[in-house]
Amino acid sequence: MPIKKTALLLSLVLAVGLFFAFDLGQNLNLQTLKSHQQSIETFRAANPGAAALVYFVAYVLVTALSLPGATLLTLAGGAVFGLWWGLLIISFASTIGATLAFLIARYLLRDWVAARFGERLKAIDEGIAREGAFYLFTLRLVPLFPFFLINLLLGLTAMKARTFYWVSQIGMLAGTVVYVNAGTQLGKIESLAGIVSPALLGSFVLLGIFPLVARKVVERIRANKVYAGWKRPRRFDRNLVVIGAGSAGLVTAYIAAAVRARVTLVEKHRMGGDCLNTGCVPSKALIRSARLLSHMARSTEFGIASARADFDFAEVMERVQAVIRTIEPHDSAARYTALGVDVVEGSAKIVSPWEVEIARRDGDRQRLTTRAIVIAAGARPFVPPIPGIEAVGYLTSDTVWDLRELPRRLLVLGGGPIGCELAQAFARFGAQVTLVEMAPRLLVREDEDVSAIVEQRFATEGIRLLTAHRAKQFVIENGEKTLIAEHQGGEAHIGFDTVLVAVGRAANLTGYGLEELGIPAGKTVETNEFLQTRFPNIYAAGDVAGPYQFTHTAAHQAWYAAVNALFDPFKKLKADYAVIPAATFVDPEVARVGLNEQEARAQGIAFETSTYRIDDLDRAIADGEAHGFVKVLTIPGKDRILGVTIVGEHAADLIAEFVLAMKHGIGLNKVLGTIHIYPTLAEANKYAAGVWKKAHAPERLLRWVGRFHAWRRG
Ligand SMILES: Cc1cc2nc3c(=O)[nH]c(=O)nc-3n(C[C@H](O)[C@H](O)[C@H](O)COP(=O)(O)OP(=O)(O)OC[C@H]3O[C@@H](n4cnc5c(N)ncnc54)[C@H](O)[C@@H]3O)c2cc1C
Repeated sequence: MPIKKTALLLSLVLAVGLFFAFDLGQNLNLQTLKSHQQSIETFRAANPGAAALVYFVAYVLVTALSLPGATLLTLAGGAVFGLWWGLLIISFASTIGATLAFLIARYLLRDWVAARFGERLKAIDEGIAREGAFYLFTLRLVPLFPFFLINLLLGLTAMKARTFYWVSQIGMLAGTVVYVNAGTQLGKIESLAGIVSPALLGSFVLLGIFPLVARKVVERIRANKVYAGWKRPRRFDRNLVVIGAGSAGLVTAYIAAAVRARVTLVEKHRMGGDCLNTGCVPSKALIRSARLLSHMARSTEFGIASARADFDFAEVMERVQAVIRTIEPHDSAARYTALGVDVVEGSAKIVSPWEVEIARRDGDRQRLTTRAIVIAAGARPFVPPIPGIEAVGYLTSDTVWDLRELPRRLLVLGGGPIGCELAQAFARFGAQVTLVEMAPRLLVREDEDVSAIVEQRFATEGIRLLTAHRAKQFVIENGEKTLIAEHQGGEAHIGFDTVLVAVGRAANLTGYGLEELGIPAGKTVETNEFLQTRFPNIYAAGDVAGPYQFTHTAAHQAWYAAVNALFDPFKKLKADYAVIPAATFVDPEVARVGLNEQEARAQGIAFETSTYRIDDLDRAIADGEAHGFVKVLTIPGKDRILGVTIVGEHAADLIAEFVLAMKHGIGLNKVLGTIHIYPTLAEANKYAAGVWKKAHAPERLLRWVGRFHAWRRG
């Protein structure tokens, strides 16, 4: 702790210690006050200014140091200075004292609390920024909440001192009047409890919640204002219309049907959306075939002298389609119809906050009125406007699945998850793959040690990695398709046969009514924490809403969107993004939940790391996959998990244990105390917990235990 803080802390401890050592508190009771009332009043009559000053300073000190006795002092103020002077002096003294206590708590403890509870504090700070003044006002008005505790606790939040001061001064006025007035009748008071009657307390509570109620009313009026000019139907055909039958839309419709709502699900292209048709499913199917080839290429490592794979790339791609067809029934119109969803194939457009028009694939048009709408229109590959790109032609994650011939020289633009997964798969089939990435390393959202392992593996597998290369222009040079990229102030010319663009995905924001209704959309549809758009009955979920672009987050949001859309205003839930896992299915797999080191540093959250290297794991050695690590970030000195990154075989499956642990507040001690089957890769999780435990072994205790054993040996 810095010297200034230490000095302040010591002075405070000394002051509070003296207060109790000299038993100054004994004088702060009703009887002593009554018995000295006469002499105090005499002093005040002779020295009014000095009396007020002494009283003011004493009041500020008691409140600033959070000492007991503020209520008694208030009564004394009323008794000695009368109602109006008492009120004036006490109102300022109590607010200044409270603000000093608030500032002291902030100066001494805020950094410490932020370092330990960074994430939780962030959420509290966000709440304080939004509604802190209202809550403080309520707390001040209702004299049930301990005065000193409010000062100290709010000092630990990000509330502005100025806000704290003025809200406190206004909020405490009513209570101060009551106590100062009671002080003017000191002779009649028998106990402190008698000052505030239940009826008075009830009025305070009403007054306290008034601003919150008023705020809700204002919100309601504001919400209703956005509907001005639109005619609300008297009755609705549907409870819910869902636009898009990808991961988000399917889950939304499923939940709606499960709770017996009338729901229509509209899909203009293919049921299952991206994940089934052009995303997760085909990519994982392709990766599986490629992986088989990679194992054959490594056959000698497994004691098999040679292994030859004859394959036709077209057949591999047909298998990918066969996998899609096998999974398709899970997302089919038939299945959802059987579940009670009205599935419509066609293109939906929102024409009013309560109406959706559908251009059906069979040529008909249909207009449905609905209480609520969930937009789940997904995203599409983003194609950057690089000069010449249209002329050379390109593939994206939408079209790559149509390939039946393996490109000889494949240029992959983008070193994020999709670019990396596809680059490795194509390289394993025998394409000469060049991966161009603008950032200095692959998978930039992961820690550097993660990127390093993946880059190392890619290089070993013959992928040409061009990081820190910014694509500038596509040209045809000497009859050859060429990318010109900027690199370290110069230019690199990269020849290729086919280019796959994988530089990110852009939300689908046009053509279905957002513009006409004025629903704000920057990169994604703008929503609040309840996933409501500008129109509270229109929600958005999945890739179209962001901020994540995964199937499991789309489904997660869908649950909130469905519940909120169907049960608001009776029940409304904020989407919870506290524990979000994700994986990149390269080999070795990369999986993460919660924070990694670079994020924790960026957010100023203190952490410890415990890393277990999988090179040492029996099962991984037996499998010939002894590489990678499990890295756990914890709160310093505690076993509470802030985040985990796993690199290695089946990392995306292994991370599930930590997702559960984080979601339910299970610490590393409990992970360590859980039996893991031998020999499995999952043991790596336990060993990572063991690394943490070893670093926190109680050395002093162990020294004593050592002595105990020595003594027993005689
Ligand atoms: C190559 C690749 C690999 C991926 N791998 C993974 C992975 O391994 N794990 C993972 O979690 N995620 C993965 N993803 C991401 C995942 O596919 C998406 O996050 C997920 O599909 C998003 O679901 P969604 O419902 O938001 O959108 P989508 O699945 O895109 O669904 C939106 C649907 O809305 C329809 N639609 C749009 N407008 C209208 C309209 N006006 N009327 C009617 N219908 C409309 C579209 O046709 C589409 O079917 C991958 C993505 C890609 C591209």
